[in-house]
Amino acid sequence: MSELTLKAEKLDAADELAALRDRFVLDEGVYLDGNSLGALAAHVPERIADVVRRQWGELRIRSWTESGWWTAPERIGDRIAPLVGAAPGQIVVGDSTSVNVFKALVAAVRMAREQGSGGGDRDEIVVDATTFPTDGYIAQSAARMTGCALRPVTPAEVPGALSSRTAAVLLNHVDYRTGRLYDLPSLTAAVHAAGAYAVWDLCHSAGALPVGLDEHGVGLAVGCTYKYLNGGPGSPAFLYIRRDLQDRFDSPLPGWNSHADPFGMRSDYEPAASAIRGRVGTPDILSLLALEAALEVWDGVTVEAVRAKSLALTDFFLECVAAYVPAGRVECLTPPAHGERGSQVALRCPDAGDVMRRLIERGVVGDFRHPDVLRFGFTPLYVGFADVERAARVLAEELLG
Ligand SMILES: *Cc1c(COP(=O)(O)O)cnc(C)c1O
Repeated sequence: MSELTLKAEKLDAADELAALRDRFVLDEGVYLDGNSLGALAAHVPERIADVVRRQWGELRIRSWTESGWWTAPERIGDRIAPLVGAAPGQIVVGDSTSVNVFKALVAAVRMAREQGSGGGDRDEIVVDATTFPTDGYIAQSAARMTGCALRPVTPAEVPGALSSRTAAVLLNHVDYRTGRLYDLPSLTAAVHAAGAYAVWDLCHSAGALPVGLDEHGVGLAVGCTYKYLNGGPGSPAFLYIRRDLQDRFDSPLPGWNSHADPFGMRSDYEPAASAIRGRVGTPDILSLLALEAALEVWDGVTVEAVRAKSLALTDFFLECVAAYVPAGRVECLTPPAHGERGSQVALRCPDAGDVMRRLIERGVVGDFRHPDVLRFGFTPLYVGFADVERAARVLAEELLG
């Protein structure tokens, strides 16, 4: 047995979260793509069968009240809240991340303009130029609709790009390609000091590391639930609206679900007096309730414990890669410093697409990001240290072969 296999065994034996793996449906392979689609929690199919057969099939319309369907978006928001450091009453779940980016960004521009002296002159949206593409596309349209200029800059350039013209800044907490973690507290403070609003995209941090939304005074944030929160394919995203901003959140998609009195069927619009004004139309109940069931694996689990294991997993993966892969064969894009690392490792090599195809054939599932990036996501709820050693070993074999 090699030294690293032995080390993996010891780390697995000392892992307090190791037992959680049994709560998921997995196979003999190594699943390192939970940053794209989280694995299925084993109890979810039965719960969804009940939602379909009994709640829908038998109770039918009664389920909107008796099964708690109508209030699911805010109830599930409150279940996600502690995972992102938010007190209850500030998160609603529904729609995709893309749609929530749109709501939050337009609302941010509107808030920045409405306030005090000079707010009306704010006519720029700053966006992370390296963002996941959907955020950039939505920001472009939001800028066009609000009459703003779009300023794409790298996250490092954000503080220098802020001015009295900045209305809103759209940022990613963790870069989806490189796994780099950005400094949310200091960037948020810089944006607020400029009199603008930051919108944080938490897709790659929610469920992977502590976010501290309330602690760091974040105003608006969005995130998806099918990555580290394991909500299932296309499970609805979440939208965080800080409590003191809720009265000022002017949604560009004011559907009837966001109305103060939705069943009053009034022709005049009056927004709900809470984060509920972030809702739009009838929620996607099947997906929402699959997510709600999936979130039960977090009962008794802290995001701090998950973060500690995540760093141990990525550290160990980097150690194994350094030991097994010939120097210079891959370039690591993920920062070595813990404070700058999300829960994934990205390795660059010219034949990445081909290498990942062969890895997947051998049961080591990561993913390939155009043009030359191998991405490995580490979900501490179900990935262990032996998995990590095996993934690095198979990777080295394929890189040599
Ligand atoms: C995964 C991801 C999305 C996905 O958006 P959808 O609307 O859910 O498809 C958006 N932004 C970032 C940063 C992501 O990582």
